Amino acid sequence: MAKANYGVIGLGRFGTSVALTLTQEGKHVLAIDRDEEKINSIKDYVTSAKQADSTDKDALVEAGIANCDVVVVGIGKEVDASILATLNLKELGVKYVVAKATSDQQGKILAKIGADRVVFPERDTGARLAWQLMSSDVLEFIELSPMYAVREVEVPKQFVGKAIKQLHVGTKFNVLVLAIQRGGERMIVPSTDRKFLRDDRITLVGKTEDIKHFAEHFRMK
Ligand code: ATP
Repeated sequence: MAKANYGVIGLGRFGTSVALTLTQEGKHVLAIDRDEEKINSIKDYVTSAKQADSTDKDALVEAGIANCDVVVVGIGKEVDASILATLNLKELGVKYVVAKATSDQQGKILAKIGADRVVFPERDTGARLAWQLMSSDVLEFIELSPMYAVREVEVPKQFVGKAIKQLHVGTKFNVLVLAIQRGGERMIVPSTDRKFLRDDRITLVGKTEDIKHFAEHFRMK
Protein backbone atom coordinates (compact mmCIF):
# COMPACT_ATOMS: atom_id res chain seq x y z
CA MET A 1 0.00 0.00 0.00
CA ALA A 2 2.97 2.23 -0.39
CA LYS A 3 1.37 4.45 -3.05
CA ALA A 4 -1.99 4.76 -1.37
CA ASN A 5 -3.74 7.93 -0.40
CA TYR A 6 -4.62 7.85 3.24
CA GLY A 7 -7.52 9.31 5.18
CA VAL A 8 -7.73 9.65 8.94
CA ILE A 9 -11.05 10.44 10.61
CA GLY A 10 -11.10 11.50 14.25
CA LEU A 11 -8.04 13.37 15.38
CA GLY A 12 -7.72 12.29 18.99
CA ARG A 13 -4.33 11.10 20.22
CA PHE A 14 -4.56 7.93 18.14
CA GLY A 15 -5.76 9.47 14.86
CA THR A 16 -3.32 12.37 15.13
CA SER A 17 -0.42 10.01 15.66
CA VAL A 18 -1.45 7.91 12.62
CA ALA A 19 -1.84 11.02 10.44
CA LEU A 20 1.46 12.60 11.46
CA THR A 21 3.47 9.40 11.10
CA LEU A 22 2.10 8.75 7.60
CA THR A 23 2.87 12.36 6.65
CA GLN A 24 6.41 12.13 8.02
CA GLU A 25 6.90 9.12 5.75
CA GLY A 26 5.88 11.22 2.75
CA LYS A 27 2.33 9.90 2.31
CA HIS A 28 -0.69 11.89 1.18
CA VAL A 29 -2.97 12.28 4.16
CA LEU A 30 -6.47 13.72 4.33
CA ALA A 31 -7.32 14.42 7.97
CA ILE A 32 -10.96 14.83 8.99
CA ASP A 33 -12.56 15.83 12.27
CA ARG A 34 -15.82 17.53 13.10
CA ASP A 35 -14.01 19.76 15.59
CA GLU A 36 -12.62 22.88 13.94
CA GLU A 37 -9.89 23.30 16.56
CA LYS A 38 -8.51 19.86 15.75
CA ILE A 39 -8.43 20.79 12.06
CA ASN A 40 -6.67 24.09 12.76
CA SER A 41 -3.97 22.44 14.79
CA ILE A 42 -3.17 19.74 12.22
CA LYS A 43 -3.74 21.55 8.92
CA ASP A 44 -0.13 22.72 8.48
CA TYR A 45 1.24 19.22 8.99
CA VAL A 46 -0.83 17.06 6.61
CA THR A 47 -1.67 17.17 2.91
CA SER A 48 -5.16 18.42 3.63
CA ALA A 49 -7.42 18.78 6.63
CA LYS A 50 -11.19 19.13 6.40
CA GLN A 51 -13.82 19.76 8.98
CA ALA A 52 -16.64 17.26 8.49
CA ASP A 53 -18.97 15.05 10.46
CA SER A 54 -18.20 11.52 9.32
CA THR A 55 -21.69 10.31 10.14
CA ASP A 56 -22.78 12.44 7.17
CA LYS A 57 -22.00 10.60 3.95
CA ASP A 58 -22.31 13.68 1.74
CA ALA A 59 -19.90 15.59 3.96
CA LEU A 60 -17.36 12.79 3.57
CA VAL A 61 -17.74 12.87 -0.20
CA GLU A 62 -17.30 16.62 -0.21
CA ALA A 63 -14.16 16.32 1.92
CA GLY A 64 -12.70 14.08 -0.82
CA ILE A 65 -12.74 10.74 0.97
CA ALA A 66 -13.39 8.92 -2.30
CA ASN A 67 -9.75 9.61 -3.27
CA CYS A 68 -8.49 7.61 -0.31
CA ASP A 69 -7.61 3.93 -0.68
CA VAL A 70 -7.04 3.46 3.03
CA VAL A 71 -8.98 5.21 5.77
CA VAL A 72 -8.36 4.94 9.50
CA VAL A 73 -11.32 5.69 11.77
CA GLY A 74 -9.85 6.97 15.01
CA ILE A 75 -13.15 7.73 16.72
CA GLY A 76 -13.24 5.60 19.81
CA LYS A 77 -15.48 6.68 22.64
CA GLU A 78 -18.44 7.64 20.49
CA VAL A 79 -19.44 4.18 19.42
CA ASP A 80 -22.36 5.24 17.21
CA ALA A 81 -20.17 7.71 15.34
CA SER A 82 -17.40 5.17 14.77
CA ILE A 83 -19.91 2.62 13.44
CA LEU A 84 -21.63 5.10 11.15
CA ALA A 85 -18.32 6.44 9.83
CA THR A 86 -17.12 2.91 9.04
CA LEU A 87 -20.41 2.02 7.37
CA ASN A 88 -20.31 5.19 5.26
CA LEU A 89 -16.75 4.52 4.15
CA LYS A 90 -17.52 0.98 3.02
CA GLU A 91 -20.67 2.17 1.25
CA LEU A 92 -18.60 4.80 -0.51
CA GLY A 93 -16.27 2.05 -1.75
CA VAL A 94 -13.14 2.79 0.30
CA LYS A 95 -11.00 -0.29 -0.26
CA TYR A 96 -9.38 -0.66 3.14
CA VAL A 97 -10.92 0.68 6.32
CA VAL A 98 -9.17 0.34 9.66
CA ALA A 99 -11.38 1.11 12.64
CA LYS A 100 -10.41 1.70 16.22
CA ALA A 101 -12.42 -0.07 18.90
CA THR A 102 -12.44 0.55 22.62
CA SER A 103 -14.42 -2.56 23.56
CA ASP A 104 -14.96 -6.11 22.28
CA GLN A 105 -18.58 -5.34 21.40
CA GLN A 106 -17.62 -2.30 19.37
CA GLY A 107 -14.92 -4.37 17.64
CA LYS A 108 -17.40 -7.12 16.75
CA ILE A 109 -19.86 -4.65 15.26
CA LEU A 110 -17.16 -2.84 13.30
CA ALA A 111 -15.94 -6.14 11.82
CA LYS A 112 -19.50 -7.20 11.02
CA ILE A 113 -20.32 -4.01 9.12
CA GLY A 114 -17.23 -4.36 6.95
CA ALA A 115 -14.18 -2.86 8.65
CA ASP A 116 -11.22 -4.57 6.98
CA ARG A 117 -9.19 -4.35 10.14
CA VAL A 118 -10.18 -3.53 13.71
CA VAL A 119 -7.53 -2.34 16.14
CA PHE A 120 -7.70 -2.08 19.91
CA PRO A 121 -4.87 0.38 20.60
CA GLU A 122 -4.71 0.02 24.39
CA ARG A 123 -5.14 -3.74 24.35
CA ASP A 124 -2.73 -4.23 21.43
CA THR A 125 -0.09 -1.99 22.98
CA GLY A 126 -0.44 -3.79 26.31
CA ALA A 127 -0.07 -7.20 24.66
CA ARG A 128 2.90 -5.99 22.62
CA LEU A 129 4.57 -4.63 25.72
CA ALA A 130 4.03 -7.92 27.57
CA TRP A 131 5.65 -9.85 24.71
CA GLN A 132 8.51 -7.40 24.64
CA LEU A 133 9.04 -7.78 28.37
CA MET A 134 9.28 -11.54 27.93
CA SER A 135 11.66 -11.46 24.98
CA SER A 136 14.61 -9.48 23.73
CA ASP A 137 13.89 -6.00 22.45
CA VAL A 138 15.34 -6.61 18.99
CA LEU A 139 12.17 -5.78 17.08
CA GLU A 140 11.42 -2.68 19.10
CA PHE A 141 15.00 -1.63 18.65
CA ILE A 142 14.68 -2.04 14.87
CA GLU A 143 11.37 -0.17 14.85
CA LEU A 144 12.61 2.74 16.92
CA SER A 145 16.21 3.10 15.78
CA PRO A 146 16.78 5.37 12.78
CA MET A 147 19.66 3.08 11.79
CA TYR A 148 17.50 0.05 11.03
CA ALA A 149 14.19 -0.37 9.30
CA VAL A 150 11.51 -2.84 8.35
CA ARG A 151 9.91 -1.66 5.10
CA GLU A 152 7.34 -3.03 2.70
CA VAL A 153 7.97 -2.33 -0.98
CA GLU A 154 6.49 -3.54 -4.24
CA VAL A 155 8.37 -6.39 -5.87
CA PRO A 156 10.87 -5.10 -8.45
CA LYS A 157 9.88 -6.10 -11.99
CA GLN A 158 13.28 -7.75 -12.40
CA PHE A 159 12.46 -10.16 -9.55
CA VAL A 160 9.24 -11.55 -11.03
CA GLY A 161 9.52 -15.25 -11.82
CA LYS A 162 12.81 -15.59 -9.95
CA ALA A 163 13.48 -17.26 -6.62
CA ILE A 164 14.93 -15.38 -3.65
CA LYS A 165 18.10 -17.49 -3.70
CA GLN A 166 18.70 -16.83 -7.41
CA LEU A 167 18.62 -13.10 -6.81
CA HIS A 168 21.15 -12.99 -3.95
CA VAL A 169 19.15 -10.19 -2.33
CA GLY A 170 21.02 -10.64 0.94
CA THR A 171 24.54 -10.44 -0.45
CA LYS A 172 23.83 -7.85 -3.16
CA PHE A 173 21.79 -5.44 -1.07
CA ASN A 174 22.48 -6.45 2.52
CA VAL A 175 18.78 -6.78 3.28
CA LEU A 176 16.67 -9.74 4.27
CA VAL A 177 13.27 -10.67 2.83
CA LEU A 178 11.21 -11.00 5.99
CA ALA A 179 7.83 -11.57 4.33
CA ILE A 180 5.96 -11.67 1.04
CA GLN A 181 2.42 -10.35 0.83
CA ARG A 182 0.53 -11.98 -2.04
CA GLY A 183 -3.10 -10.88 -2.23
CA GLY A 184 -4.58 -11.93 1.09
CA GLU A 185 -1.76 -14.39 1.81
CA ARG A 186 1.22 -13.43 3.97
CA MET A 187 4.34 -15.58 3.88
CA ILE A 188 6.58 -14.88 6.84
CA VAL A 189 10.23 -15.85 6.36
CA PRO A 190 9.56 -17.31 2.90
CA SER A 191 11.66 -20.21 1.66
CA THR A 192 14.53 -18.99 -0.52
CA ASP A 193 13.17 -21.31 -3.26
CA ARG A 194 10.02 -19.21 -3.34
CA LYS A 195 9.55 -17.37 -6.64
CA PHE A 196 8.25 -13.82 -6.74
CA LEU A 197 5.06 -13.07 -8.65
CA ARG A 198 3.80 -9.83 -10.15
CA ASP A 199 1.96 -7.65 -7.60
CA ASP A 200 3.78 -9.25 -4.65
CA ARG A 201 4.77 -6.86 -1.91
CA ILE A 202 7.88 -7.67 0.02
CA THR A 203 8.89 -6.76 3.54
CA LEU A 204 12.58 -6.11 3.97
CA VAL A 205 14.61 -5.74 7.11
CA GLY A 206 18.06 -4.20 7.23
CA LYS A 207 20.01 -1.03 7.76
CA THR A 208 17.96 2.03 6.77
CA GLU A 209 20.58 3.09 4.24
CA ASP A 210 20.65 -0.38 2.63
CA ILE A 211 16.87 -0.44 2.33
CA LYS A 212 16.95 3.06 0.85
CA HIS A 213 19.61 1.95 -1.59
CA PHE A 214 17.47 -1.06 -2.56
CA ALA A 215 14.43 1.14 -3.16
CA GLU A 216 16.44 3.70 -5.13
CA HIS A 217 18.12 1.00 -7.21
CA PHE A 218 14.72 -0.23 -8.35
CA ARG A 219 13.22 3.28 -8.36
CA MET A 220 10.43 2.47 -5.97
CA LYS A 221 8.85 4.28 -3.04
P1 ATP B 1 -7.93 9.15 21.58
O1 ATP B 1 -7.86 8.07 22.61
O2 ATP B 1 -7.28 8.79 20.29
O3 ATP B 1 -7.52 10.50 22.07
P2 ATP B 1 -10.78 8.88 21.89
O4 ATP B 1 -10.94 7.40 22.00
O5 ATP B 1 -10.87 9.68 23.13
O6 ATP B 1 -9.43 9.27 21.14
P3 ATP B 1 -12.94 10.28 20.72
O7 ATP B 1 -12.80 11.34 21.76
O8 ATP B 1 -14.18 9.49 20.69
O9 ATP B 1 -11.76 9.27 20.76
O10 ATP B 1 -12.75 10.94 19.29
C1 ATP B 1 -11.54 11.27 18.74
C2 ATP B 1 -11.76 12.37 17.74
O11 ATP B 1 -12.82 12.04 16.86
C3 ATP B 1 -12.14 13.72 18.35
O12 ATP B 1 -11.23 14.70 17.90
C4 ATP B 1 -13.54 13.99 17.86
O13 ATP B 1 -13.75 15.37 17.58
C5 ATP B 1 -13.58 13.19 16.57
N1 ATP B 1 -14.94 12.79 16.20
C6 ATP B 1 -15.87 12.21 17.00
N2 ATP B 1 -17.01 12.01 16.32
C7 ATP B 1 -16.80 12.45 15.06
C8 ATP B 1 -17.59 12.52 13.87
N3 ATP B 1 -18.85 12.08 13.84
N4 ATP B 1 -17.03 13.04 12.76
C9 ATP B 1 -15.75 13.49 12.75
N5 ATP B 1 -14.98 13.45 13.84
C10 ATP B 1 -15.47 12.95 14.98
